Amino acid sequence: MSLSRLKVLLQEVQSLPELKSASWIGFREMRERHRTFVGQDGHVRETSTGESHGVMVEVFVNGQMGYAATPAITSASLRETTIRAFKQAESASRWSVAKFGFDGNAPLVRPTVKGHYASPASTARTTSAELAELVVEITKRLKKSAKIVQTLCYVDWLDGESRLVSTSGTEVEQGLEGVILHFEATAQDGGITQKRSDGENLQGNLQLLKDPSLWNRVDRVAEQVLELLAAEECPSETTSLVLLPTQMTLQIHESIGHPLEVDRILGDERNYAGWSFVREKDFGSLQYGSKLLNVTFDPTVTDELASYAFDDGGNPAKREYLIQDGVLLRGLGGLESQQRSKLAGVANFRASSWNRPAVDRMANINLEPGTSSFDEIIASVERGILMDTNRSWSIDDYRNKFQFGCEYAKLIENGKLTKTLRNPNYRGITTPFWNGLKMVGNASTLQTHGTPNCGKAEPNQVIRVGHRSPVCLFTNIEVFGGGA
Ligand SMILES: [Zn+2]
Repeated sequence: MSLSRLKVLLQEVQSLPELKSASWIGFREMRERHRTFVGQDGHVRETSTGESHGVMVEVFVNGQMGYAATPAITSASLRETTIRAFKQAESASRWSVAKFGFDGNAPLVRPTVKGHYASPASTARTTSAELAELVVEITKRLKKSAKIVQTLCYVDWLDGESRLVSTSGTEVEQGLEGVILHFEATAQDGGITQKRSDGENLQGNLQLLKDPSLWNRVDRVAEQVLELLAAEECPSETTSLVLLPTQMTLQIHESIGHPLEVDRILGDERNYAGWSFVREKDFGSLQYGSKLLNVTFDPTVTDELASYAFDDGGNPAKREYLIQDGVLLRGLGGLESQQRSKLAGVANFRASSWNRPAVDRMANINLEPGTSSFDEIIASVERGILMDTNRSWSIDDYRNKFQFGCEYAKLIENGKLTKTLRNPNYRGITTPFWNGLKMVGNASTLQTHGTPNCGKAEPNQVIRVGHRSPVCLFTNIEVFGGGA
């Protein structure tokens, strides 16, 4: 639907006598389309397409927002939906958890803005037939030995758009295109089974799927899964730990991203996803990590999965330091959480779809690069272990004590990578772990990853997030073997 048509529909409901005492009305239209291709063992296992499209209506009355949504984008349905949201706001305003201010024109938590955003344009073109062929080719190429018992690949190609209009004059239009690629090989030898995987979660361009270096990565997965079958078990000891960006993604997500969500700190998620060890008083003083730890909220990096110009409440998005020189500065709180907590926040108020209200989410959370090359990091370690790609994770509901397993590891002895190790795991406690950060890789070690599956809120919302990280070295970390 065009922005002008959505504005006309809004003007129609604004004049209804039933909505005379509404202070403000906003429409958020969201449409998203997925084309998914799954290959297994040299065949197409499944292809599917899906599309979701509708409008969330927000009505502000007596300091309280009410919500209702509809997939039928017609005058009649939007009229009925807006009246429903109005009645909800009016009755809920008698028991508000928090009342929000109003500037005479718009709620303070819904700024009046105009602008647009689009994912970086892709020069590559592709068809559904090419993508189906790609997942088959990857699963064939992964099967380099009879010991590789299963190969799997999926591609999710998505595009979507969102529009915000409001009675105070907001007009925002944003478009997104993204590619999610994952491939894996499982190998077996006697009683030993190992899995190795790789992939990408990127915004914008399809170039990734056409890049010849993709085939080197496919070959590497097949070689390393066979290597793991013959590898030694990871030893149990307290040692130096080097994490590659694939595992850093999970480490940042679980032990920096989730604990810094301000709605979680305020207790909104407590009976569902849990609470946080971080308290309001910690902002500005908590030494979250060593002086080398610099973490940003950055929705401006072009290829990350959660880049945008405005969040779903219309707050203009910009890069902010969450942690600088190891000190916790800012939480992941949108305008509503900022008013409730009186803490500085970011533009992270996001909804997974048209039928969900926006809540505090991660977007892109990045660990900023340092000054060390990969070779300098390895050369500095007398004894330690390098780990790559998450395999299992467990973290308590305060986001404090954690235990993570990886797919692949290498022993580091006297500044050199030596034996391959299988079944590597490590455990830690969030702030002592980050305070053990000893070296941070330079820009040449940076990689962009992310996940399409960050879950939160009731009813559940699954959302895309991006994480960019360099290679990092941690000291005094408890590592151990075992598990599958
Ligand atoms: Zn998550």
